[in-house]
Amino acid sequence: MATPEIKKYWQNFVDGEWCDGATNERIVVENPATGEMLAEVARAMPADVDRAVAAARRRFNARTLIDMRPMARGALLLEIAAQMRAMAEEIALAECLDNGKTLAAGKNEAMAASRYFSYYGGATDKIEGRMIPLGAGYVDYTVPAPYGVSVQIVPWNFPLQIAARSVACALATGNTVVLKSPELSPLSCYFIAEACKRAGVPDGAVNVLCGYGHDTGAAMVSHKDVDHIVFTGSLKTGQFILRAAAERIIPCVMELGGKSAGIVFPDADLDQVAASTAIGIFTNAGQVCSAASRLVVHRSRHDEVVAKIAAKARALSIGPGIDGKDLGPLISGAQRDKVEAMCLAAQQEGAEAVTGGRRVDGLPGYFMQPTVFTGVKPDMTMAREEVFGPVLTVQVYDDPDEAIALANGTDYGLCAGVYTKDLRQAHWAADRLVAGQVFVNEWFAGGIETPFGGTKRSGYGREKGQEALLSYVQTKNVGIRIDGSGGGRPGG
Ligand code: NAD
Repeated sequence: MATPEIKKYWQNFVDGEWCDGATNERIVVENPATGEMLAEVARAMPADVDRAVAAARRRFNARTLIDMRPMARGALLLEIAAQMRAMAEEIALAECLDNGKTLAAGKNEAMAASRYFSYYGGATDKIEGRMIPLGAGYVDYTVPAPYGVSVQIVPWNFPLQIAARSVACALATGNTVVLKSPELSPLSCYFIAEACKRAGVPDGAVNVLCGYGHDTGAAMVSHKDVDHIVFTGSLKTGQFILRAAAERIIPCVMELGGKSAGIVFPDADLDQVAASTAIGIFTNAGQVCSAASRLVVHRSRHDEVVAKIAAKARALSIGPGIDGKDLGPLISGAQRDKVEAMCLAAQQEGAEAVTGGRRVDGLPGYFMQPTVFTGVKPDMTMAREEVFGPVLTVQVYDDPDEAIALANGTDYGLCAGVYTKDLRQAHWAADRLVAGQVFVNEWFAGGIETPFGGTKRSGYGREKGQEALLSYVQTKNVGIRIDGSGGGRPGG
C-alpha cells in the first residue's frame, strides 16, 4: 500500500496553546517500517518544561478541577473520550506510521485510550474518603487529595494507551499534568492534547511536550515545582528518576520492564498455550513490557509445545503495519541491532534458535525474525534480561517447585502465566508466582479494569482498574473537635 500523507510538523501543547520549543529546534520522526523521515516535532527544552509546569501549577492552585462537582469533572473526561473516538482513524494512522503498528492495532490504541477516559470519567464521583469514629465531640474524616502537578513520561511501544491511562487517572482525581511523549514515536500523544482542547479542559490542566530524556525528561523529574511522577519505561531510566525524586521526596509510580514467564503444566491444552504465547510474544513485535517472553514447560510436553509455537512463528507475515502484516518492525535500527545482538549472544552461550534469531534481510525497515530459543539455562542473559523484541525463551522443568523457581528466577516481576486444566494447580501456582498480574490459560487476560504493575524491579504502584486511583491521591485526615463540652448536647 502507498504510504498515506500525514501532517509534517507537530507542536507542543502548553497552557492550552500549540507552540514551538524554546530554541525552535525540531526532532525528526522516522517511519520504522521504511527507515524514512515521516515528520518533525517541536523539540521541547528545559525552558519549555518550566513554562508547562508553571501552567499546570497555576491551574492546580486555581482549584478548577478540585472544586468542580465530581460529576462535572467526570463529564469532562467523558467528552475527552468522545473526542478521542472521533479522531480514531487519524490516531490509527499516526500509530501505524511512527510506531509500526497495523492500522487495526492503531485503531485499538485509539479506542483503548478513549476507554481510559470514560472508565475514569465514571469514577470521579466514587472517589470517597472515610468517616472515622472518635467518640462524642469529634468528627473525623479522610479526604483523597490530589498531589498537584503530575509529570508523566511514557515509552515508545504503546505511547497513547500508556499516556491515556495516566492522564485520565490524574484528571479524575484533580491533578494537573505535564506529559512527555517519547521522542521515537511521539505523534499519537498529541491527540490527547487535541482531545482535551476540543473537550474544553481548562488551559494548563494538560500540557504535552516532546523532548529527549536526558535533558527534557531529566528537567521534568527534577523540577522544583513538581509533586508527582509517573514513569513508564526501562529499569535504568527508572533508577535515574528515582534518584532525582529522592532529592525532593517526590512520590512516584514506576512501571518498568519485565521478563515474564508462563508455566505449562503437563495437563495444559497445548493449542491454547501456543496460540496464547504467540500473541503474548509476537504482538507489537515483542515490544511489550508484559510480553510472554519466557515459557517454562514440563519436560514431558516440551518438544510438542516448541513445535507448535515455532510453526506459529514461521507462519507470521512480516512487513509494514500499513500493509496489514502480522509482524511489524522494531522501533529503530538501534533496537533491532540490540535484539539481534542478544540473539547472537544467546547462541554463543549454547541456546538453540529453533526458528529465527536474525534480522530480516531484504526489507528496508527494522524487522527482526520471530524467534524461539530452546536449551536456555537460567543463568544465561537470554533467560534473565528483557529483550523487547519478538523472541521467546523456552526452559524445561521436572517438578512444580522447580517451575515456580524458574519463573520467579529473574530480577523482574511484572506478569506471569499458568497453563493447566486443574484450577487447584492454577491457584497453587498463582499464589507462589511473584508478579503483579497472573494470567491463567490466556496471556493478557484482563484489560483496563484490571490493576496492572510490577513487583521487584518491574516497579511499584498500580495503573489501570480502580487501584490506580490510589496512586494519584494522598490521604488527608481531618479531625474536628465539635465543642469543648461533653458531646455537644444542645444547651449542655
Ligand atoms: P526508556 O526508559 O529509554 O524511555 C522511556 C521514556 O523515558 C522516554 O520518553 C524517554 O525520553 C524518557 N527518558 C529517558 N531518559 C530519561 C531521563 N534521564 N529522565 C527522564 N526521562 C527520561 O524506555 P523505552 O526504551 O522507551 O521503553 C522500553 C522500556 O519500557 C522497557 O523496559 C519496557 O518494559 C518498559 N515498559 C514498561 C511498561 C509498564 O507498564 N510496566 C509499559 C511499556 C514499556
